[in-house]
Order: sequence, then C-alpha cells, then structure tokens
Amino acid sequence: MSAIDFKEIPEAHLGGGLQDTFELFARDFLSYLGYEIEEDPSRGADGGKDILVIERRSGVGGETSVRWLVSCKHKAHSGASVSTQDDSNIRDRIDANSCNGFIGFYSTLASSGLSDALRGLSTKVETQIFDREKIESYLLKSPDGLHLAKRYFPKSTAAWLGENQKPAKIFATHPALHCKHCRKNLLEPKPSGIIVLWHKLDQTSGKAHYDEIYWCCKGNCDQMLSRRMRGKGYIDGWEDIPDVAIPLVFARWMMTPLNELNSGDTYSPEAFEHLKEFILSVYPFVARDATQKEQERIQGLTSIPAYLGGLGY
Ligand SMILES: [Zn+2]
Repeated sequence: MSAIDFKEIPEAHLGGGLQDTFELFARDFLSYLGYEIEEDPSRGADGGKDILVIERRSGVGGETSVRWLVSCKHKAHSGASVSTQDDSNIRDRIDANSCNGFIGFYSTLASSGLSDALRGLSTKVETQIFDREKIESYLLKSPDGLHLAKRYFPKSTAAWLGENQKPAKIFATHPALHCKHCRKNLLEPKPSGIIVLWHKLDQTSGKAHYDEIYWCCKGNCDQMLSRRMRGKGYIDGWEDIPDVAIPLVFARWMMTPLNELNSGDTYSPEAFEHLKEFILSVYPFVARDATQKEQERIQGLTSIPAYLGGLGY
C-alpha cells in the first residue's frame, strides 16, 4: 500500500503558458537528491517537456560530470504505465541535448517494453528510472524528503505522518527504557508502562525524600515491584509513560521535580540519576528532528568539550 497519492498533483496542462506541477516537482526532487538543475522545465506549449540536470562525481581522476536528460510523465490519474510511445526517440533526444544519460521520472511505472528499450540503450548511455515507488521511498526516508513531500502531497504526507510518529533522531542510539521486572523495552514499538517514584516524608520538616525511581509494565510487573516497596513504608507516585510522551504533559511533568527541589525535597543519588535517564529517554518522543543545518551545528558542538561550552562528553 503506497503512502503517497500522486493524484494530488493535477494532470498536465494541455497547452497554455503555465508550467506543469509534476515537472516542478521533478525539478525540486532531483535538486533534493543533489543534482544541479541546468535547465528548468520549459515554459510554453511547444511540447519541450524535458529538464536538464548535472551530476558531479568526484573520483581519483578529479571531478567528472554527467549531464542527464529528464523526461517527466505524469499518468497517475489514468494509472497507465509509461510506454515506448509515451517516451519515444530517447536516443535522439539525448544526442540533441548533448547529454550522457537519461532519467525517466514517472508517477506510475515504466511498461515492460520501455524497460527493455532502456536496458538496450544502457550499453551506450546511462539510464535510470524514478517510478512512483522509488520516488516515495526517497521522500519518506529523510526530514528534507518529508519537507518536499508536504509541499506537493500535503494530504498523503499528513495521513502518513499521523500513522508513523517516530521518535526524533537526537541521540546516536535508539532510546530504551527496560521494565525493572521483566526487562521489556517500554519504548518499543511505542511508549507503554509507567514510571513510579517512591518517597518517604520527613516527619519534622514535611519534605519528601525520593529513594527509588523506576519504570515497569503496568499490571503484574508493577504489582510485584510495589509489594516490596510498600512493605518498607514508602509512598508511591506514578505516571503513564505514554502520557509523559505528550509534549504538553512532558513540559508540565518536568516542572514538578524542579519545583520540588526548590522547595527542599531531596533525591537519593540513584533516584536522581534514574530521573535524568528517564527524561532523556522520553525526550525524543516530544522533540522534532533536527534540520540539516542544526545537525551540522550539533556535530560542531559535539567536538567541543562540555567545559568549553560544547556538547562533548
Ligand atoms: Zn515488565
């Protein structure tokens, strides 16, 4: 089941001076992949529907560039594959534009006849096809791709994101919180379980001292662990982990220990470490992905030690 509905892009104009949206999408998509756009989709109704892009390749012998002729065919509305009649005289068009390669950019698939024809050409020039599945996989695999998808396929992207909430990529490893009793990772496939905070009240000052903080499955694991703590006279507080993963709840929940610390409540060193570990593990679920620029900044900061103001350890 595909996530992107290419019919969100209207059918090509039959004449008129407007550029077709599918061609503009092809241009932006190839630019996102790193191709340089040499010639934009042509304006006007002269039937010149191709884009020219340059790919720079660096190797031991220096830089070489490949000039690609891009042919866009938007047939998603009929659903038909792109045939040799739709994309004809490929070799002549490549030569006429002084190109070394051919890119078929299709919102459906290439017919088997066209695929065969392109394979036949591939001994003389480079050829590649971006069909609907390949385009979709590139769009959905990175924040920049999703950004582009949102612009051209707002409905499909919103629906897909709603079903595929993933923790933001912030740390080098996937966040994990293992149940203290059965060791199940409570953050996979999505957050579950509870965090439990055990404290005793100081009779004279009235302040709380948190001795133990852990996370576990609801139900049996929670009961097994609770029995032991209650026997020692501790009082529990708890929160559903999926609730803490809601951005607003997370922000409010973070205020609690800050307020408590300020009012004189205390934590055992181990409980305090667990609290920090929990906050860092849930944080990716309420945060957004870093943009490309921010990622570069993070890399820069990580190379600077913390005592000099960086993020290094
Ligand atoms: Zn468990």
